[in-house]
Amino acid sequence: MAVDASRLTIVHYPDPALRRVARPIPEVTDEVGEVAARMIDLMHEAEGIGLAAPQVGLSWRLFVADVPADEGRSPTTDPPTATDGAIVYINPVLSEPRDGIEPYEEGCLSLPDIRGEVFRPPAITITALDVHGRRFTHSASGLLARCWQHEMDHLDGVLIIDRMSQSSRMKVRALVRDLERQADHR
Ligand SMILES: [Zn+2]
Repeated sequence: MAVDASRLTIVHYPDPALRRVARPIPEVTDEVGEVAARMIDLMHEAEGIGLAAPQVGLSWRLFVADVPADEGRSPTTDPPTATDGAIVYINPVLSEPRDGIEPYEEGCLSLPDIRGEVFRPPAITITALDVHGRRFTHSASGLLARCWQHEMDHLDGVLIIDRMSQSSRMKVRALVRDLERQADHR
């Protein structure tokens, strides 16, 4: 694999890395830990709450999240709606959500200036490995549950522009085209 973590940067739509289905990480090595640490730095620099490996050009099933306690969000409610600092999720799997979906306006570090309404289940459970290769299971609701589902989509090559409500999709159409044009001229 041999990835130089220090050289990773956030890629923007329509970079093809964002459309690949990412592969499971066969072994949690030091390299995986270094990549995760770099992704946490990039996420914080960009003031995001989540970042998935395809967003730094890596086809790995890994994402990081740091949802701050704020505006009624807390890491200690049951289920939590925020994290207590940054968390790394390796080879994550989401449970089948319970019934119901809710709208919420989402943005994405790979789609600058684009925000739109996405419907998702309000609560979910995740199982993943940490950077020491230990398996853990967490449940979440609120913004944390939303963040997990958004980042999981990235691991399957799915973006918010695929999931947006019809009205949001219309509103951001010109911005999406601008990104596609910028890429053409690169
Ligand atoms: Zn995103």
